[in-house]
Amino acid sequence: MRIFISADIEGCTGIVHRDQLMPEGKTYAAARKLMTGDINAAIVGALRVDPAAEFVVCDGHGVMRNILLEELHEAAQLVIGPATVENKPLCQSQGCDDSFDLAFFTGYHSRAGTLLRPEGFVGQAPGGLLSHTWVGSTICNFRMNGQVVGEAALNAAVVGTWDIPVGLVVGAHELGPECEQTLPGGHVFVQTKTSYGPTCALCLPPAKTKKLIEDGAEEAVKRFKAGKLKALKPKLPVTMEIEVYRREMADKACRVAGVERTGERTIAVTAPRVDQAAVLAWTAVVRAQDEDPAWLK
Ligand SMILES: [Zn+2]
Repeated sequence: MRIFISADIEGCTGIVHRDQLMPEGKTYAAARKLMTGDINAAIVGALRVDPAAEFVVCDGHGVMRNILLEELHEAAQLVIGPATVENKPLCQSQGCDDSFDLAFFTGYHSRAGTLLRPEGFVGQAPGGLLSHTWVGSTICNFRMNGQVVGEAALNAAVVGTWDIPVGLVVGAHELGPECEQTLPGGHVFVQTKTSYGPTCALCLPPAKTKKLIEDGAEEAVKRFKAGKLKALKPKLPVTMEIEVYRREMADKACRVAGVERTGERTIAVTAPRVDQAAVLAWTAVVRAQDEDPAWLK
């Protein structure tokens, strides 16, 4: 079987702070190792059920050159390179096609606007751990056919274009309920940490998450083989509506052919297939940037 792994970093073991997310950060080198470790654990777990399984991993965070190829499991190949429209129009799902059977999402995080409400918490609810959707500085809400979604449902719908279900999602605790609400269900969720706020979490060490992710991936492949997983298939044609933070961003985004202005700070795309809508939506978001940001170079 062939398994597509879309890999982000914010939900990975031990990742809590911006300093860990970009190459200029002092703790970035260690973060890359943690990210690669989570992916390898997912591969090892899947191989327990299908020793002949093949994997393609898409590096889906920031500069998209984070995962350490030299440490990646030999059963995998890796999509490396920035998500320019020319390069990587499917962004975090680049490399996926109808040759795959199953998808895993590692290091995923909760959507833009997530609030944490721990039991007994009094006062203002803190934001979710490193929560955002695609580009944190640009997007405040992303709706698919009217439902607010994060990157998990967005990419689940993209791989659903080829009827590929998501079997495993790995991330911080608040991503669990988000996936319950926006994925078709049946997937395995593995929690790497309990979020306290935007940049703090109670983290399990890699020695522990390695076991949890291996077991989760094993269970996901078993569920797939038992026919228990369903692909996310939004009603077609699908509409993706993006609410941005500033009017100027929408001004720029709606210059892309096929992008419609639906409000002062909202734009929308509609397409007969989810992958086509996602490419158009990503193109609009890239064009909405004020200048070439470091993560696109
Ligand atoms: Zn992300």
